[in-house]
Amino acid sequence: MAETLSPEARARVAETLEKTGETRRLSAADRDVVALAVDMAALGAVDIWTDDYSIQNTAKRLGITTRPILTDGITSEAVWHVRCTGCARYLDEDPRDGVCPVCGSPVKRTRKPPTR
Ligand SMILES: [Zn+2]
Repeated sequence: MAETLSPEARARVAETLEKTGETRRLSAADRDVVALAVDMAALGAVDIWTDDYSIQNTAKRLGITTRPILTDGITSEAVWHVRCTGCARYLDEDPRDGVCPVCGSPVKRTRKPPTR
């Protein structure tokens, strides 16, 4: 199925994941599911049935409806932030090695409510 995905759809998903800080929370397969939905949404209405909160969050930002299978779904968009456990600063990017580039302490992901 991956071959049928448009580069544009993949780029939009990657961009959205970067904005929400969820890049590492979605597997390549998950990303393909969302990218496929982006492609299909261009042709008409499409829903993703999933209980995965990261997929729900990403799809919502891309204007794609998700339907929960078992859970109630998310009520609002969440943005993940990476925060250092040492110096407590919020980092713009998720460091690859999981440590703060400033003080070297481990970083932790925190969820912040959407600001409108
Ligand atoms: Zn730090």
